[in-house]
Amino acid sequence: MSLSCERYQRYLEPGFTPFDPLELANQTEQIVCRGDSRRYTKFYCTGVYGGIATGYTCGCCLRCIFCWVNWSRDFPEKYGVFRSPAAAFEELSRVAHKARVLQLRISGAEPTLGKSHLLALLEKVENSAFRLFILETNGILIGADPDYAKQIACFKKVHTRVSLKAGTRQAFTTKTGGKPESFELPFQGIVNLLEAGASFHVAAMSADPRIMTKQERERLLSRLASIHSALVDNLEEEVVDPYHTTLERLQHAGVKLQWTQY
Ligand code: SF4
Repeated sequence: MSLSCERYQRYLEPGFTPFDPLELANQTEQIVCRGDSRRYTKFYCTGVYGGIATGYTCGCCLRCIFCWVNWSRDFPEKYGVFRSPAAAFEELSRVAHKARVLQLRISGAEPTLGKSHLLALLEKVENSAFRLFILETNGILIGADPDYAKQIACFKKVHTRVSLKAGTRQAFTTKTGGKPESFELPFQGIVNLLEAGASFHVAAMSADPRIMTKQERERLLSRLASIHSALVDNLEEEVVDPYHTTLERLQHAGVKLQWTQY
């Protein structure tokens, strides 16, 4: 890692300084990408989406306090092995064939980091017998780069799931660590995907009143409705699950949630 580890944003703690997610994306790419290769920690098949082969990557440009992914998010320089798009596709194919599933995805991080890696991998999926690639993203980089949305939209086997973290600027900073103005980027990402004609839907951590108040949820729904009413109709609303990494990150951030009521 050529960067100063002291300057790299880890998990959030009380009194943190809000960061620019685009800058963190750039710093993270320097750690988790090399040419068109990207660091992966494992490949496996899970039961979500009715069964999907998953490549578990390292690195994200947000620091959500409820994030469940392992510590490779916070300490990416310590985890993973670089895989070329061809090697990652081969590993995904191997676990998919073993489990007899036709769907693939990247998880455990932000898959849009390392654009050349992702696009080359999607190209391989497009030209394969696999049915679908689900691109789970926080929407930051697609919001900052309209061409990225256009390139993703060219792949007919790709469905994007944009996961929103907050309904207001202030809540975005509190929950993700990103500076308030970067709250706009995922919404711009949605606009970019819409205008590009991409297959996508929106998810939000909005079904959990411990994480999102009723008023904040209403602001989020209203913002989505101002883009397109179908975004609200098709919204996937999530709750926080008590993974040990989630609990530890909440604890580091000084946030206490009651789990017994759920
Ligand atoms: S929840 Fe998603 S966007 Fe947030 S830090 Fe974790 S991997 Fe990144």
